[in-house]
Amino acid sequence: MIRLSRFDFFSPASLQEALEILARSNGDTKILAGGTDTVVGMKQGVSSPKRVVWLGKIGELRRIAFSTNDGLRIGAMNTLDEIERHEDVQHHYPSLQQAIRSIASPQIRNRATIGGNLCLDTRCFYYNQSEFWRRSLGYCLKRGNGICHAAPELTTCGAVFCSDLAPILIALGATVTLRALESQRTIRLSDFYINDGKSHLTLRPGELLTAIHIPYVPNLRASSMKFRMRESFDFPLVNAGVAVAFSDQQICRRASIVIGAVASAPVIAFEASGMLMGKELSDELIESVGARIQEYVKPLPNIDTSVGFRKKMASLLVKRALRNFRERMQE
Ligand SMILES: Cc1cc2nc3c(=O)[nH]c(=O)nc-3n(C[C@H](O)[C@H](O)[C@H](O)COP(=O)(O)OP(=O)(O)OC[C@H]3O[C@@H](n4cnc5c(N)ncnc54)[C@H](O)[C@@H]3O)c2cc1C
Ligand code: SF4
Repeated sequence: MIRLSRFDFFSPASLQEALEILARSNGDTKILAGGTDTVVGMKQGVSSPKRVVWLGKIGELRRIAFSTNDGLRIGAMNTLDEIERHEDVQHHYPSLQQAIRSIASPQIRNRATIGGNLCLDTRCFYYNQSEFWRRSLGYCLKRGNGICHAAPELTTCGAVFCSDLAPILIALGATVTLRALESQRTIRLSDFYINDGKSHLTLRPGELLTAIHIPYVPNLRASSMKFRMRESFDFPLVNAGVAVAFSDQQICRRASIVIGAVASAPVIAFEASGMLMGKELSDELIESVGARIQEYVKPLPNIDTSVGFRKKMASLLVKRALRNFRERMQE
């Protein structure tokens, strides 16, 4: 049995109390939501916090609300299972439901939260190993010393952000609310990430992600696509969130393509999305968009399968999503 190292445990009953605890902490404090990733990391020794703040007793972080004016608001502590079963998600955001169903296993989704998913640590097969394994190889940039074993020329860690929800939520135009004891801000989810595997969130000290807001856009077609090693349950090797709005004449008037699990932050494919604007979805256009995606994404050899294969799969996932949209328009 692998034991956890010792830490002080806090379970605040309100958001205010949680923010006060975080404001008093000077680093070395870990926020705990469902714990499905954090506890694994703590057991592997990739994270050894002195204080752990569990958010599970805070009811105000666990509410879902929907209106056509305000869209969908999800609390950071809502579990993936609760979100997937929610009637408004099923009716108005089927692509979010699709993304959730692809995550881990039913048991994990029962515990895992959306906040934890969006704040998931980055992964790398040179890093997500036991302490003994990592020490034997020589540490790396993610720990703060050593070299990058995946690409020795790198000066910034390129560990991969493997959230299955971030790409589709960015494509849907989601924003997140971040609260600290004396501040509150709402930013686009795309601005929540930076491409640095050691520190990939723009979360400030003392801040908590409290809620996710997804606008309601009638007639938006959206899809979450994923390639993984085992269909039963597994992290993505590459995923894609694709959202396109068409005019009555089936002309694309808004498009967003986001590729995940190929960098330390979701990759927004601006140019490929722009290629769709003002056009009908023809076979040639879908092929050109796919080719642009394949060229644009540049994964590192630090999770399973080869770089070239993941580039091809990124292109294939986007092409599949676009072809599905077109088929449904023709029904
Ligand atoms: C076997 C297995 C398979 C998995 N497969 C997938 C998969 O296919 N796709 C996928 O996306 N994920 C997968 N995961 C990862 C994980 O289970 C999910 O991403 C889950 O949603 C994380 O949520 P959590 O509540 O358990 O997060 P936790 O483990 O509690 O936290 C994760 C991180 O987020 C931070 N955090 C949590 N809540 C907040 C908040 N409100 N504000 C600020 N920071 C916060 C924590 O400090 C921690 O750094 C898998 C995990 C396992 C063990
Ligand atoms: S990408 Fe390089 S620096 Fe980052 S965790 Fe992997 S081996 Fe370490």
